[in-house]
Amino acid sequence: MEKQIICIQCPVGCSVTVKHDGQNIKGISGNKCSKGKFYVQSEFICSNRVLTSTVLCKTEKGILPLPVKTDGEIPLHLLRDAVTQLRKNTYTAPVKTGDKICSDILGTGIDVVATKDLL
Ligand code: SF4
Repeated sequence: MEKQIICIQCPVGCSVTVKHDGQNIKGISGNKCSKGKFYVQSEFICSNRVLTSTVLCKTEKGILPLPVKTDGEIPLHLLRDAVTQLRKNTYTAPVKTGDKICSDILGTGIDVVATKDLL
């Protein structure tokens, strides 16, 4: 079987073909450099992403959006659930950049932090 993966390690965006039999990679082609090979290998095994989103935060000026991000990558298939969990709560100012908004999101061991000060 074959799977196409776009390498996002640089603006070239090579379309890389992974030949596999289930979980085992049999060959990789289409990448212009070794960086793409390593990226595609890890993408094929387990796609991870840093989550960036916004949550609601009570401030003196009313409820405002607070930008947040995970402090590491989480599995791609958990992104939607992570956003849903984060948006169940309304947070309260003051919040400083880097403050922890959520610990161990979905049991990943990764925290969610604020990326902006809100007073
Ligand atoms: S394979 Fe190399 S050249 Fe192609 S997109 Fe990835 S990093 Fe860029």
